[in-house]
Amino acid sequence: MALLENKTVLITGGSRGIGASIVRRLASEGATIAFTYVSEGSEAASQALVEELSATGTQIKAYKSDAASFQEAEQLVQSVMADFGKMDVLINNAGITKDTLMLRMTEQQWDDVINVNLKSVFNLTKHAMRPMLKAQSGSIINMSSVVGVFGNAGQANYAASKAGIIGFTKSIAKEVGSRQIRCNAIAPGFIETDMTHVLDEKTKEMFLTNIPMKRLGTGEEVANAALFLASDLSKYITGQVLSVCGGLNT
Ligand code: NAP
Repeated sequence: MALLENKTVLITGGSRGIGASIVRRLASEGATIAFTYVSEGSEAASQALVEELSATGTQIKAYKSDAASFQEAEQLVQSVMADFGKMDVLINNAGITKDTLMLRMTEQQWDDVINVNLKSVFNLTKHAMRPMLKAQSGSIINMSSVVGVFGNAGQANYAASKAGIIGFTKSIAKEVGSRQIRCNAIAPGFIETDMTHVLDEKTKEMFLTNIPMKRLGTGEEVANAALFLASDLSKYITGQVLSVCGGLNT
């Protein structure tokens, strides 16, 4: 039997990058998939992903929804419940960067990153909690970063959001563990996506020097960790931060 047969998964930010890799990997293990995107420009890519996976028999739907909005998160969970009847796994993956040194950082850059990366995790978890409590089971996976563990110059807003996710994850694990709802975080290192393509060569070289495996990671490698945490293979694992970083966080 496939690892995620009869499981419905909601993934925020599934249109590109790590999120799209997670969508594909979980679908390959039999999951029913609901995923989100936020920009008009990602509408076509999202529909193409739906068509690609529908053709292989996956039940899948894309939703345009801003994870930073409490109201939109509530509507999204209601829509997924109406469309698929349950939500076994929630993957809070949506994220952005607005990198700059603290002296130059604007209030807007701080607020945007905290709202999209951290408040979104509260928004979605808050609304997904009800169906999971009713089912007395569930797995919540939050996309943190190694930067949330050890910080990074020029990323104070991003690092704060990703460190906040770790505290949130551990608290939720303690709060709802007795109901068999698990909550874990993944801390990717330096993964090849649009988010890292914009980094300059000097920053990339600095990262590579410090990565014991001497290469960037792929979305598929992060997706495999998400599959493990989503499935019953990790049934007794909660409140943990799983680094997928080629040893960077060592
Ligand atoms: P990416 O390629 O830039 O993709 C970001 C995804 O998030 C897109 O699907 C985007 O949707 C979605 N998104 C952005 N803002 C959103 C919002 N307000 N509401 C809903 N969706 C939104 O990023 P990535 O590299 O795959 O990163 C995915 C996650 O992993 C992020 O949380 C990131 O912080 C984390 N991470 C990445 C790395 C890395 O090296 N790449 C390392 C550590 C952690 P649209 O397509 O509609 O814009």
